[in-house]
Amino acid sequence: MVITIDGPAGAGKSTMARGLAERLGFEFLDTGAMYRAVAWSCLSQGVDLKDADAVGNTAASVTLEMTPNAVICNGSDVTLQIRTGEVSEASSLVAAVPAVRQELVRLQREVASGRNIVTEGRDQGSVVFPDAECKIFLTADPRRRAERRLKELEQRGEAATLDDVLRQIVDRDERDQQREVAPLVKADDAVEVDTSSQTAAQVLDQVERIARLAIG
Ligand code: C5P
Repeated sequence: MVITIDGPAGAGKSTMARGLAERLGFEFLDTGAMYRAVAWSCLSQGVDLKDADAVGNTAASVTLEMTPNAVICNGSDVTLQIRTGEVSEASSLVAAVPAVRQELVRLQREVASGRNIVTEGRDQGSVVFPDAECKIFLTADPRRRAERRLKELEQRGEAATLDDVLRQIVDRDERDQQREVAPLVKADDAVEVDTSSQTAAQVLDQVERIARLAIG
């Protein structure tokens, strides 16, 4: 059984997907981390992000291992390296390359096959798992999302200002919504949850209720 959680940057998808998976005894897949790993791989190999062929080739040759607490890319643990502002920016550029999406969608379906899993990203309910039994779309107003992202960056010791983070989030959302392949969109049958004025615990309870209703 597949449960999808999609939405814009900083809406709380990873926290909710991880928490929901734990409550239901499901596995968890952070598909944003896969795009980030491809971006990291391009950056570390000096691949020109505007060269779609080179970026596509990097995605095709990358070896990715997604474990519950770590992302292993080409044999290196890149769990922390993929969370920088630079990689966030690069990930939404590589995510617009059709060959990258084709490769990662194939991998995502392979990982989910035969499993009970919560997957989170931008296109999980709309494109990757259109038949998922339960689809959730998480949103929050941009300022709230920027505040959450800033807190995460500060906890990792990265310096940033709220204005910068807000601008990056708005730019990234725009790119994700406007790209030609699998843009960020709410699937028609997804349940929308606005997390702006709720605590993480309240959102997790709501998401769990929605999932349990769908599971039956
Ligand atoms: O969710 P996260 O911020 O880690 O995602 C990083 C980037 O990867 C997003 O901005 C988006 O461009 C891309 N992405 C995507 N499709 C997914 C997950 C992430 O295009 N399913």
